[in-house]
Amino acid sequence: EREEPSHFGAGPAQLPTNVLQQAAKDLVNYQGIGLGIGEISHRSGDATEVIESAKANLRNLMNIPDTHEVFFMQGGGTTGFSSLATNLTAAHVGKTGSKGTAGYLITGSWSAKSLEEAQRLGIDSEAIFNAKDFNNGKFGSIPAESEWAAKLKSKDYSYIYLCENETVHGVEWPQLPRALIDSDVEIVADLSSDILSREIDVSQYGVIMAGAQKNIGLAGLTIYIIKKSILENISSASLDKLRQLGVPITPIAFEYPTVVKNNSAYNTIPIFTLHIIDLVLRQIIAKGGVAAQQKENELKAELLYTALDKYSDFYAVPVAEECRSKMNVVFTLKKEGLDKKFLDEAAALKLTGLKGHRSVGGFRASIYNAVSVESTKTLAQFIEDFASKNA
Ligand code: PMP
Repeated sequence: EREEPSHFGAGPAQLPTNVLQQAAKDLVNYQGIGLGIGEISHRSGDATEVIESAKANLRNLMNIPDTHEVFFMQGGGTTGFSSLATNLTAAHVGKTGSKGTAGYLITGSWSAKSLEEAQRLGIDSEAIFNAKDFNNGKFGSIPAESEWAAKLKSKDYSYIYLCENETVHGVEWPQLPRALIDSDVEIVADLSSDILSREIDVSQYGVIMAGAQKNIGLAGLTIYIIKKSILENISSASLDKLRQLGVPITPIAFEYPTVVKNNSAYNTIPIFTLHIIDLVLRQIIAKGGVAAQQKENELKAELLYTALDKYSDFYAVPVAEECRSKMNVVFTLKKEGLDKKFLDEAAALKLTGLKGHRSVGGFRASIYNAVSVESTKTLAQFIEDFASKNA
């Protein structure tokens, strides 16, 4: 039992209370079998049913076409950075015989970290652009396609990477850039903090990667949606060829074709964590699917940005309007010395998790799927009240 939270933390994030209550029961005794869901073999019928159910529900919710495969892996977003770099480079080798260069669109700290990881591993990779170079050395905007699209044709890119929603800087791509959709290169996207928050066209992506701990579940599992032709290309790249080209070999537990062939259970999948994901997916379906969720999310974002903009002498939103995140609303106070007071008074109203990331300071209200319109209205009202009292 708990009082309904109003938790705006960036992740791990609030989950629906009824999902957690069901999961708590299933952790002790799953469907009356006398054992908890985390205590049975990951290859048992019950575990396989959980895997199949989560896959089917995700397919249904995201309208995933037959050209794409769904799988789950341990590790989180950060292991996604490395596994994407090695698997996708191998795919390019399998397809073309050469390793190519990986291109990254840098719009905030998570895409920057992903590029750093590719480079640390020795993958040939570079930034197509760094948004900081177009915004006085700060993240907070996305350069126009005309600034960078021509570069896509300048060399043999193995894949183009982007982070759809930059969780720390509150910058979200409003949609996939046209130049990428129209190019032949595979699009690889990190959706860790906005998966299932809005409708997307999965057919446009080569790979989607998303850690679970924000919109869809607990930390511990990462969701992958991948074009089947990419899996085939990875399998076509022999280890000898990769060694000869100096491409790092992917550790077996993170090798996509191996994981897919074993239905996400090549090694022990945390099935309790996946069960929670499945319960969350079922709840979104019951609420009317992603379209209904998107409407709610747009309303929540509008409530907060409207309150902040109404008091724009008092609050600063350091993100250009067209790429303001609908998941992570980042803002600061223009007056010094009031930050602690803001957080304390918010906490007194049971509004929690509002402190900004340590690298940028200020505040961040993360309004993931499970944060209610009601909670968001309370926060919007507080934002207005605090401004009018302290201006
Ligand atoms: N990508 C994004 C967009 C994120 O927000 C995060 C974590 N907040 C990560 C990647 C890294 O995820 P993890 O901590 O699971 O490695």
